[in-house]
Amino acid sequence: MKEGCGPFQNLPVIKCECGAEILLIRQVELMSKAINSHVEEHRARVSDSIKADVLAKRIEDHLIKQVFEKIQVHLSNI
Ligand SMILES: [Zn+2]
Repeated sequence: MKEGCGPFQNLPVIKCECGAEILLIRQVELMSKAINSHVEEHRARVSDSIKADVLAKRIEDHLIKQVFEKIQVHLSNI
């Protein structure tokens, strides 16, 4: 039995620039809800609505990009 290289070493999570982790799940709707609610958390901390929009867009892009990267890694492992 080999130890130290189990399948759970790389849990499928995406990371926000704030350090928060969002678990990658198969249910697309739940996944997009999780991303949206995290984006909204960031938006709520910014009082200037234009700045909040720019920030929200950047964070959303950053998170969604990682979703696609993870999916690609997954596909190449099949
Ligand atoms: Zn965040």
